[in-house]
Amino acid sequence: MSAARKTVSSQIPHPGARPALRPAVFLDRDGVINVDTGFVFRPEDLVWMPGAAEAVRYFNCRGFLVFVVTNQSGVARGFYTEADVAALHAWMAAELAARGARIDAFYYCPHHPEGSEPAYRLVCDCRKPAPGLIRRAFAEWPADPARSFLIGDRPSDLAAAAAAGIPGYQFTGGNLYEFVRNISGGDGGADSSRPLPKQHGGT
Ligand SMILES: [Mg+2]
Ligand SMILES: [Zn+2]
Repeated sequence: MSAARKTVSSQIPHPGARPALRPAVFLDRDGVINVDTGFVFRPEDLVWMPGAAEAVRYFNCRGFLVFVVTNQSGVARGFYTEADVAALHAWMAAELAARGARIDAFYYCPHHPEGSEPAYRLVCDCRKPAPGLIRRAFAEWPADPARSFLIGDRPSDLAAAAAAGIPGYQFTGGNLYEFVRNISGGDGGADSSRPLPKQHGGT
């Protein structure tokens, strides 16, 4: 057999094996992980939300996959490039990692129907309230929709969650870790199979 076939075969644990599904949390970026100061793309301009790293670590410890889903129309508007977005996300991931928190993947939409950059000026399926970013994560990771949810600061975030078939919780500011503890019942337990409540008192 060829070396290529041998390599592929060695990556398969055994026939029929499937990875165990994990719950996932989808976090909006601006207004949730960092303060929404408007079209942030430089690390020196980013202001972390209080409790952001602790919140991400909380989900890591409970077995959740943690995804960022963020509209970045600043690309379509010509304010910054996709390379800038990628560099900022790499920096954010490193800063969080230094505090024991892991983002499994960042998903962003660079489009806008009225952008100034022709390549990005379009109606897409990934700009929230469309569910494209969430659906992409489900397609690429072993995440269980029945145990997943989103935290966002805008109605468009919650609409994207609803369109993807998962609950959404609105964070309106303050300490993200305290918010996360509240929506998960504040028990601090490590039972990742326990569903989070469907309702939250936020506006
Ligand atoms: Mg936001
Ligand atoms: Zn898009």
